[in-house]
Amino acid sequence: MDSLVIGIDVGGTKVAGGLVSMKGRLVSSLTVPTRAAKGFATSFGQVVHLISRLIDRAGGTDRIAGIGLCAPGPLDTKAGIIINAPNIPGWQKVPLAAKLGEEFHLPAKVENDANAAGLAEVLFGAAAGYRHVFYVTVSTGIGTGIIINRRIYHGKNGAAGEGGHVSIDPTSPYRCGCGALGHIEALASGPAMARRARVFLEEEHTTSSHLRDLTHGNPSRITPELIEKAARAGDKVAKKIIEDTGFYLGVWLAGMITLLDPEAIVMGGGVSQIGEPLFKTIRKTILRYTLNPGLAAHTPLLPAKLEKLVGVYGAASLFLPAGEEIEHGY
Ligand SMILES: [Zn+2]
Repeated sequence: MDSLVIGIDVGGTKVAGGLVSMKGRLVSSLTVPTRAAKGFATSFGQVVHLISRLIDRAGGTDRIAGIGLCAPGPLDTKAGIIINAPNIPGWQKVPLAAKLGEEFHLPAKVENDANAAGLAEVLFGAAAGYRHVFYVTVSTGIGTGIIINRRIYHGKNGAAGEGGHVSIDPTSPYRCGCGALGHIEALASGPAMARRARVFLEEEHTTSSHLRDLTHGNPSRITPELIEKAARAGDKVAKKIIEDTGFYLGVWLAGMITLLDPEAIVMGGGVSQIGEPLFKTIRKTILRYTLNPGLAAHTPLLPAKLEKLVGVYGAASLFLPAGEEIEHGY
């Protein structure tokens, strides 16, 4: 029988796990709540519990080649240490690979979630067939991964690929979660979009807007989903917010293309679900701001394919032979 890899994706609210074949086929998957607020012992216990259940499903550890785990925030991939996972209290300076190794007597590796997702999209998803790819996920934050030759680019300290924390407007009044001004995450993430819509509707309080109607008088209800809904119904304010977000992402990606000359860009995350109205503005803006528009015109901007289980695939792919043919697209 084929060997299997366990892929685990730890987030602030849930832990997703799966058994993945060496050819990239998802054999089985499971999700449990993280119970992050209860502290490290509880949330790590959830991870251990999930892995035990997956091992049972695999009929024991004999078939398991290793455990790959991805989590948000900075981590030391070489030493297998989680440095600080935001939204998961207690996940600081944890030698997670060693702890998992002791618990299950299996090799274990850890990776940043956006890096892992980028690798998964290249091996099994939207960018299958490409080797050099810039991956972006736009949701509550903006995560990125640089994939070169079908491998994650880590840089000197393992801290490379934090593209969400690149400033494209230092004069912006908006501070990023990391503290700096004008980072793309502070301008184009889901919360940034919602904030821009709120500010606009407050300033232009006499402008009629379907988006405003949808909030039932409570602007804190504005989300990217609501903006998209209003835009689809023809609301001009919502359309403008999507266009502005696409503009910021386009300026930023123009720089990334100039820097990396990737074969493709893959974009996932909740905000990317807006789809073509957003992508159209991004593509147009890239051509205005990149150094070689003639080349960038042939750099496809692809919607991500793996969606919810991207982290599971990504974590598992830490143990898969890079560049090998895979059974399924996804
Ligand atoms: Zn930042």
